[in-house]
Amino acid sequence: MSKDLLEILKDFELEKTENLANKLSRELFQKIFEYAKNLRKKNFKNKLYSCAILSIKTGNCKADCKFCSQSRLSKAKINIHPLLDWEDIEKALSWAQKNNIKRFSFVSSGISPTKEELKKISSFIEKAKIFFPSLKICASLGILKKDELKLLKDSGLDRYHNNLETSKEYYKYISSLPWEEKFKTICFAKEVGLEVCSGGIFGIGETLKDVISLAETIKEIADGVPINFLVPIKGTPFENKKPLNFLSGILILSILRLLLPDKNLLIAGGRQIVFKNENYLLASLVSGIMFGNYLTTQGKSLEEDKFLFYLFDII
Ligand code: SF4
Repeated sequence: MSKDLLEILKDFELEKTENLANKLSRELFQKIFEYAKNLRKKNFKNKLYSCAILSIKTGNCKADCKFCSQSRLSKAKINIHPLLDWEDIEKALSWAQKNNIKRFSFVSSGISPTKEELKKISSFIEKAKIFFPSLKICASLGILKKDELKLLKDSGLDRYHNNLETSKEYYKYISSLPWEEKFKTICFAKEVGLEVCSGGIFGIGETLKDVISLAETIKEIADGVPINFLVPIKGTPFENKKPLNFLSGILILSILRLLLPDKNLLIAGGRQIVFKNENYLLASLVSGIMFGNYLTTQGKSLEEDKFLFYLFDII
């Protein structure tokens, strides 16, 4: 059935995802949605993965990712800061642990960290593992070499994150970073024994074909798949793009669920823009939620999400 639906969707491959919901019949839309919900229920039962992130270094990035408020092209007003001190990181870890969040990721801006920064970050990871043993620690530090990832692994890191963002073919329209180097980074992470999180951003002008291609690339390698929806931030090259509407968001999540039935699809940036308060519906398709704030955009307050902690088994 899943295969049949994906086969039917092939006719729409060249449609941009922002138009796709209007092109499908209501009947087909419903079938895809129902089937995706059933797959989520079958593979994840009542479980919901939780995670939170902290931007340990913000802004001044030399890259030119058009969706990002931290890029060299961006004029967005953000709170730029160098690598944080342990005291600030400790506060955020303590917040996550207190609120029963299971994974915590250190995220830093920039194409790659300097040697000094990497050394400091590995010492943060060591401390986090000692003082917050209930948290799984992840890091998102850009493009790294194999020995650098090994250093992080030896410091106790559980998972490395690098979003491929979109298909290899479409990536050049959103950034001049070498997609192959990003791909190599997640392959190296796997090789040194780290788990891998890699997903994308949607609503950036991609077609269904790009979504399928991204899913095929990460299928074998990613343990978690973060899903972001574009938040058109003022001052970035994508400031005038329209955010995806609710139906398009539901459709993308449903299609991703068909393509990656047993992967932890984790909703992150753009949740509040595309899905507003429809969190229960959202959690019937995804299997993970990023709680708290994102890198430079505000998320939902944990109070608003509290009910998810009652309805789901948070893991
Ligand atoms: S997404 Fe990462 S690499 Fe790209 S501009 Fe933003 S901080 Fe830099």
